[in-house]
Amino acid sequence: MSQRKVKYKENHVIERCPKCNNNTEFTVQSEQVAIDGCEIWAECICGFDPTSHEALGSFYRLESVMGGCDDENCQDAILCSWNESVKDILKFTP
Ligand SMILES: [Zn+2]
Repeated sequence: MSQRKVKYKENHVIERCPKCNNNTEFTVQSEQVAIDGCEIWAECICGFDPTSHEALGSFYRLESVMGGCDDENCQDAILCSWNESVKDILKFTP
């Protein structure tokens, strides 16, 4: 398992954390879940992880053969995994 802290400029592209309103600093995680497969996802710096939300499971985690936290994987983790799972969590929580 590896992780990498990433920081972005102020933006209107990344969904804000439902817990602390942050949308610039994240920790991207990469974890091997099978012999030839890794899951990649992003957590907020406050520890909030939308991909572990009970309503969603790990559905929104990215699957990757090699895994790792290179620039491309980090960007995908934020723009696909984080953004989409946060949007769905907001639908489930009042
Ligand atoms: Zn947060």
